[in-house]
Amino acid sequence: MGPEITSATVRVIEAAGVDVNWETHILGAQAQEKYGTTLPDEAITSIRENRVALKGPIMTPVGKGFTSVNVGLRKALDLYANVRPVRALPNVPCRYPELDLVIVRENTEGLYSGIEHVVVPGVVESLKVITEKASRRIVKYAFEFARDNRRRKVTAVHKANIMKLSDGLFLDLFYEVSKEFPDIEADDKIIDNCCMQLVMRPEQFDVLVMENLYGDILSDLCAGLIGGLGLAPGANIGEQGAVFEAVHGSAPDIAGQGIANPTAILMSGLMMLRHIGEADAAARAEKAMLDVFAEGKYLTRDLGGTTNTADFASAIIERLAATESRSA
Ligand code: ATP
Repeated sequence: MGPEITSATVRVIEAAGVDVNWETHILGAQAQEKYGTTLPDEAITSIRENRVALKGPIMTPVGKGFTSVNVGLRKALDLYANVRPVRALPNVPCRYPELDLVIVRENTEGLYSGIEHVVVPGVVESLKVITEKASRRIVKYAFEFARDNRRRKVTAVHKANIMKLSDGLFLDLFYEVSKEFPDIEADDKIIDNCCMQLVMRPEQFDVLVMENLYGDILSDLCAGLIGGLGLAPGANIGEQGAVFEAVHGSAPDIAGQGIANPTAILMSGLMMLRHIGEADAAARAEKAMLDVFAEGKYLTRDLGGTTNTADFASAIIERLAATESRSA
């Protein structure tokens, strides 16, 4: 459902008054058919040149077929920090209406290094790679993010009791880097306990930093706490650029029906606007979106409503237009 939710987002961004000259690129299975590769060079060059991109979810075959384009893109551009704010929205039925935390996920290594091999038939090794360089820079990013966004605490999530060397290195670096940020509280949680604590007392968390796979799993868990994957945005940040995309995948079960919730990618788009200095437009669009939620009339199916993707975007655009004509 990538094209459906992405075009809804593009419409809202344009209605917010940002004059974007979009360069459009196809990735994944369709690119494979057209160009013979799932990740065409033109797309990577375009992002390198523009330094910013809005990306719809791209399907990854399970257990076979091509490797993940989402992961490939993050690696190709060294987008090492995956920032995923988790904030409940007004009027959306969820377990924790007050929840407001941020997951900072390492994006380039860990078990996502994709190094797997068959040792002998029936025995497979999958390597988890943790480096000092990548761990230090993601932990630093998390603390800098906390400082810049007036967050009070950073929690490292790990399994250093079992993976003493790999997660142990990550944890040691976390506490070493934390000394550079004396104003921000630093603590850690073992991943299994962290899952329970997130479900029972999520208010104790603020910014959470972790390696790749833990970040993938906790992101979905946290999305569940605020009403589902349709509401969880994200940004992949690196020195060479930034790619904004929702936490969720390509949702093949509802693709092509025009019913997906575009909120997660829309909020990713708003993160992108703030990243490029269009904070006013982002605030206008966000206010219009929040008003639509507060009104409670237009909810997509994942939230118990009947509104389709395009109509949800239209409701936001109508509110934007109404605000503009009031202030004119
Ligand atoms: P990936 O492995 O690519 O991250 P995933 O396993 O997280 O994907 P998704 O494609 O995100 O799986 O979908 C999980 C479930 O959430 C599906 O039932 C899907 O329909 C639903 N879902 C995901 N995104 C949305 C959305 N934007 N609107 C409505 N439902 C969604």
